[in-house]
Amino acid sequence: MKAVIAQFLFESNTFNPAEAELALFTQGGTWRAGEPAVRTWSGEAPSRISGSLGVLEAAGWTTAPVLAVMCGSPAGRLSRACFARIRAELALALRTALPADAIVLHLHGAACATGEDDVEGNLLALVREELGFRGTLVVSLDLHANITRRMLRHADALTAYRTMPHTDFVATGARAARLVLQAGLRRTRTLAKVAALIPPTDTHDAEGRFAEILARARQLESRPGIEDISVFPVQPWLDVAELGTSVVITGTNPVEACAAAAELANLWYAQRHAWQAGVQPWSEIKVRLREKRSRPWILVDSADATTGGSAGRSAEVLRELLPLADELPGEVLLWVVDPAAVVAAEHGAARFILGEQGIELTAQVRWTGEGRYVARGRSYTGQTFSMGHAAVLSAGRLRVVVSSAPSIGADPAFYECVGLAPDDALAVQVKSLMGWRAGYAAEAGCGLVFDGPGCTSLSFARLPFSAPHRDIFPLNENPQTPVTLWQSS
Ligand SMILES: [Zn+2]
Repeated sequence: MKAVIAQFLFESNTFNPAEAELALFTQGGTWRAGEPAVRTWSGEAPSRISGSLGVLEAAGWTTAPVLAVMCGSPAGRLSRACFARIRAELALALRTALPADAIVLHLHGAACATGEDDVEGNLLALVREELGFRGTLVVSLDLHANITRRMLRHADALTAYRTMPHTDFVATGARAARLVLQAGLRRTRTLAKVAALIPPTDTHDAEGRFAEILARARQLESRPGIEDISVFPVQPWLDVAELGTSVVITGTNPVEACAAAAELANLWYAQRHAWQAGVQPWSEIKVRLREKRSRPWILVDSADATTGGSAGRSAEVLRELLPLADELPGEVLLWVVDPAAVVAAEHGAARFILGEQGIELTAQVRWTGEGRYVARGRSYTGQTFSMGHAAVLSAGRLRVVVSSAPSIGADPAFYECVGLAPDDALAVQVKSLMGWRAGYAAEAGCGLVFDGPGCTSLSFARLPFSAPHRDIFPLNENPQTPVTLWQSS
């Protein structure tokens, strides 16, 4: 028996107008094509591919891992040319490796391209319709996938991360592989779509309301004929059809699956008035910053989170803390994506105008070079990322990293690679909603969450969702159909 395995991970924020191009993968992230290159990569760091390989090979299967493509950070939509290239690369890799009994695709589930709102549905249709594959097709997705019916028509079985922040890459790949080994059963996929958007800051897997949903999912999974229950608090910054939080059940008992999906979806929807964004006013944050602790405070730029597809160009921390730059009781490390400032720093400038707020800064250039780092925290451990060319500007106690490209950045290695010491700082800024909890191994109480400009605001109503997509909580307090059930035939 043989399985072909490929991975393509990209998350869109359709409110970011800049299109994503190939360099986001080839320079900022990962692009490995062909079995030798993918095997080498999967041996270097934990991934969904390595999780699948372990289970399938232990069961005596022949495996062919043929493509590993991962973005350096989420962004806007893929450009038409970029999506066409990735699609063609995937088609070629799979076609070359077929025939096989199974294909395992590790995808994100919230990728959009110009002209295609459902990139993953498109790729699954490619496997069935263009490659004519009739074997078992198993898909694993990110927790923030926006599930479409097209995805579930083409995939036989589906699973997803069960951690937030995401750390269960290997376990998810292994779970997908076990769904391959169980193939031969007559399966259905049941979808319960909840008309609600949840602040990602209130979806920790081990705490609070989202932990309750995950725990109930695990209990329901023990019912007869249910193989996998995956829950998806969707990437909320998507102005697309079928947007919503989802429960997906793969199983052989459609009646049991329907009942379980409806129960879980209704339980989830009933939580909605308790969800908290956790945003704090700057007046409170500045009081906290008077205290230097043994571990750094984490300044969470919730509205300009590159991990949610924002551009990273907001300089809100600089705007707020520059007047206090000489009084702070320790260093504050912050980051703004600003290619022009990098060029100016490389030419020895001492005065800068930074970020989309245009903050005037007089600073010393302390470092210039390429900001390439290997994540050392608990998420994406061992994976290499790049923020492109970068510089460190120093003003009082502020250390401002400017970079030419966005990056994931919620990991101490991000600041360490430009010569800074985040563990010793008073505070570090991250453009991440929850990833920092894993990257910095930090408790919720370390986080100082603030709002500002950017397209990942937790005030969802502030974003220009188009009229047909606004029938969803909290854009509409009382959506017409809170829970919709659907089942594959
Ligand atoms: Zn995610």
